[in-house]
Amino acid sequence: MRKRSIAIVGAGMGGLAAAATLRQIGMEVQVYEQASRFARIGAGIQMMPNSMKVLRGIGIEQRLRETSFAPYSHLNRIGDTGEITRELPMPEGLYNAPYLCMHRAELHGALLSTVPADIIHLGRKLTGLDQAAGCVTLSFADGTKASADAVIGADGVHSIVRDIIVGPDEPIHKGRIAYRAVFPAALMDRDIGRSRTKWWGTDRHIVIYYTTKARSEVYFVTSVPEPGEWITRESWSAKGDVNELRAAYEGFHEDVRAVLGACPDCHKWAILEREPLPRWSDGRVALLGDACHPMTPYMAQGAATSIEDAAVLARCLKAVDGEDIEDAFARYEAHRKPRTSVVQAISSANTWMREGSGDTSWLYGYDAWNAPLDEPAAHAAAA
Ligand SMILES: Cc1cc2nc3c(=O)[nH]c(=O)nc-3n(C[C@H](O)[C@H](O)[C@H](O)COP(=O)(O)OP(=O)(O)OC[C@H]3O[C@@H](n4cnc5c(N)ncnc54)[C@H](O)[C@@H]3O)c2cc1C
Repeated sequence: MRKRSIAIVGAGMGGLAAAATLRQIGMEVQVYEQASRFARIGAGIQMMPNSMKVLRGIGIEQRLRETSFAPYSHLNRIGDTGEITRELPMPEGLYNAPYLCMHRAELHGALLSTVPADIIHLGRKLTGLDQAAGCVTLSFADGTKASADAVIGADGVHSIVRDIIVGPDEPIHKGRIAYRAVFPAALMDRDIGRSRTKWWGTDRHIVIYYTTKARSEVYFVTSVPEPGEWITRESWSAKGDVNELRAAYEGFHEDVRAVLGACPDCHKWAILEREPLPRWSDGRVALLGDACHPMTPYMAQGAATSIEDAAVLARCLKAVDGEDIEDAFARYEAHRKPRTSVVQAISSANTWMREGSGDTSWLYGYDAWNAPLDEPAAHAAAA
């Protein structure tokens, strides 16, 4: 393959996964991240078999297995009575990869370990892009510039790369927030169980699981209506009021109240989403992850689909041998967008696995390394 240079904007889950997959196909990769350091954000993350297959391909499956919690099942229960509405056991053989729950920082650290430290440039906030003569010039807030044969915008839900190539708009905030906390399991008076449990109320829910193999940390994340009007770009660090949180789940089962009672403090996030974009690329610039398909966290697929994107993008670029980059981007979008658009829609409706016995194989069984590229990636309508 002709050695091509790629600049990735954003060193989040999607950007780092893409750095790994693009290096694997021989591209010269540089990653530009606005943050001046990587903070340990107190949150858990679920990795389903569909993203675990990609992580296997970039060599970090074993590392994650050693530290992560492997839930027995997806367990869905009614918030107050605790009645089970759907349980899907997730043995590895079901979708040929494990289902793991972990601290976000573990996943981020594992992804970071796949690339050389000197290709990650911290403190570089992208402000502009200029495409000319088969090359893209990146401008940063500190006045510096860089150039590459192509650019991947993996800069998250507030993506400036998207603003530049598709046009600016605001993400949709439907007046709901997510409280979250990670805290020592030793603070609890009981075991929270062998599964990842989602407790469903009429207008709110809470998801609870361990983040470590040793079951030493408990994590929960909620979705509740937010009466006040707040929304912040820097939502990762906003503190929540633990008493307001407990009050919001007063009517829930005692197992839920026990978790919230033990939790010493919490953070809150505004839940943001967008409609599918009209396009994901413009010339030699393409989007990946939340930059092109941000979704509510209700299916636990935001990072997972970003990681899938990374594998497919590399396959499409490899197929053109580094030559026709624009064609490769078009093929990537044609394959990926039908799937991510469906996941965005189901995630927005918050109906996934609430009850019934609907098919899950199109989601968890997808293999981004081997799916035929000339047809849309598996999605519900095709299932
Ligand atoms: C409450 C909650 C729970 C979730 N749980 C799950 C889960 O269990 N499983 C799952 O798969 N997903 C989950 N998600 C979704 C997941 O967090 C996101 O989809 C995922 O982080 C997206 O990755 P990304 O790389 O596209 O964007 P991000 O991880 O947001 O990374 C974007 C990066 O770009 C950088 N950046 C932004 N602007 C610039 C700029 N101008 N210049 C340079 N750098 C820039 C940012 O600093 C950041 O590092 C959850 C989300 C929420 C809110």
